[in-house]
Amino acid sequence: MTPSEQQTRAARLDADLAALDLSERLALVADLEGRAVFTTSLGIEDQVITAAIGTDRLPIEIATLETGRLFQETVDLIAETEERFGIAIKRYRPRQDDIDAFAARYGLNGFYESVEARHACCHVRKLIPLASALDGAAIWVTGLRRGQSGNRAATPFAEYDAERNLIKVNPLADWSIEVINAYVAAEAIPVNPMHKRGYPSIGCEPCTRAIKPGEPERAGRWWWENDEKRECGLHVPEAAATPMETTVEATTA
Ligand code: SF4
Repeated sequence: MTPSEQQTRAARLDADLAALDLSERLALVADLEGRAVFTTSLGIEDQVITAAIGTDRLPIEIATLETGRLFQETVDLIAETEERFGIAIKRYRPRQDDIDAFAARYGLNGFYESVEARHACCHVRKLIPLASALDGAAIWVTGLRRGQSGNRAATPFAEYDAERNLIKVNPLADWSIEVINAYVAAEAIPVNPMHKRGYPSIGCEPCTRAIKPGEPERAGRWWWENDEKRECGLHVPEAAATPMETTVEATTA
């Protein structure tokens, strides 16, 4: 399918998804042609999607990026979620030689020193494993929501990801955190206990802190960086990545 055809397909899907509830959205995605992969960070939104996929036994693969720097609570939740819903969550991990190359160049925690180093670490620990998880996929399901940050305020239900040549589906795009919390409580869905300790958004341990009352949901992610649009690169075009990301990849390929 050409990029133009993919864009048309995504626009049609975006309109169709808008009128459906979560279960119907995921069922529609599961019926689409090609392999569908849902990537979960075990965040509260992702737990809602995992629960729906598991409960309805939908043929959507569930994958997570085990970066090697996750909170123990997050790692524990992977197994707990698998057991609760009788599902398998496939772990994708960074390559040791990539980690070694990053550490030799920047230091293991060099991501605090510059945005370039931080993007390079995310590239090694997240983007390369993500590429493995999505290899051959036609559909990528995510837990992105418009309310998570200003950077995500225009998140559609479906869009064409030209860089990865697949359709990206965000079935919770229009859900508020209040609706998410109510759903999780009503369905007794297991969630990361850190949410109750002031962590609405949870990534790697060295790069996540609790937020203060009134702060945006993602304010605790890479808090030392003075850029309100900071992301790890999973949901922004590769063209926005720093040149050093490419360098690290090139030296470790
Ligand atoms: S969030 Fe931090 S530790 Fe995790 S991959 Fe990115 S820079 Fe590295």
